[in-house]
Amino acid sequence: MELSDFLPIPELEKCKKLLCIQPHPDDNEVGAGGTIAKLVKFGCDVTYLTITDGSMGTLEARVKREDVAALRRKEAEAAAQILGVGRHIFLGLVDGSYPNEQELAGRIAGVIREVEPDMVLTVDPFLPYEAHPDHRKVGMAAVEACVFSVFPYFHSYNDPEPAKQWNVQGIALYNTAYPNTFINVDDTWELKLDSVGAHQSQFAGADLERFKMYFDFKARQLAEGRGFTRAEAFKVLTPLHLHANVDTIHC
Ligand SMILES: [Zn+2]
Repeated sequence: MELSDFLPIPELEKCKKLLCIQPHPDDNEVGAGGTIAKLVKFGCDVTYLTITDGSMGTLEARVKREDVAALRRKEAEAAAQILGVGRHIFLGLVDGSYPNEQELAGRIAGVIREVEPDMVLTVDPFLPYEAHPDHRKVGMAAVEACVFSVFPYFHSYNDPEPAKQWNVQGIALYNTAYPNTFINVDDTWELKLDSVGAHQSQFAGADLERFKMYFDFKARQLAEGRGFTRAEAFKVLTPLHLHANVDTIHC
């Protein structure tokens, strides 16, 4: 017997309503673009929630921060459109600003209660060696929100009134070192690469080609022995896996 016999891992490919929460305007495409496009083709209703404005994403000090943010928003909208995403919510926090995890979890819970997704997809905050605070904090705030959005007194601002309750059934984490779900993305691979390419300020020219080669190598490695060519990998869990559960790392 193992934990999944008591607590089955939800099937990401059966998701009907998905909320994809990304720290920066390009994370969803890089981590899960093929899967998002595939779910859209299956009829899944996909909403994006982009937390920061991406304004740290330049090596050029002469460019104004707000111009970087404006450009990255346009690129994010174009990328999401390529994948068929239905709705895009921008929270607009400053990129690299060390968001307050508790406040952010409350705001994300507000979006979850409004969108009512059956599953949430986001970066894995438990990735070892992750140095970017936005990834650690957004990932952690997102999983906290998934665990607590069913609790009426989990709020952003200590509101004494009970909030709407929503039960997220599954959480799919990308950029994960502990995958338990491998999605066949052969049919949507080109859409993923096109969506990454839409972020021209981040991936262009020879850099883009190098990234594409690496993504291809990694996707083929993840698919090895599974009967298809390219995969994206996720750690898929339920809210119950994400509290006081010593076996979750092995699920
Ligand atoms: Zn990022």
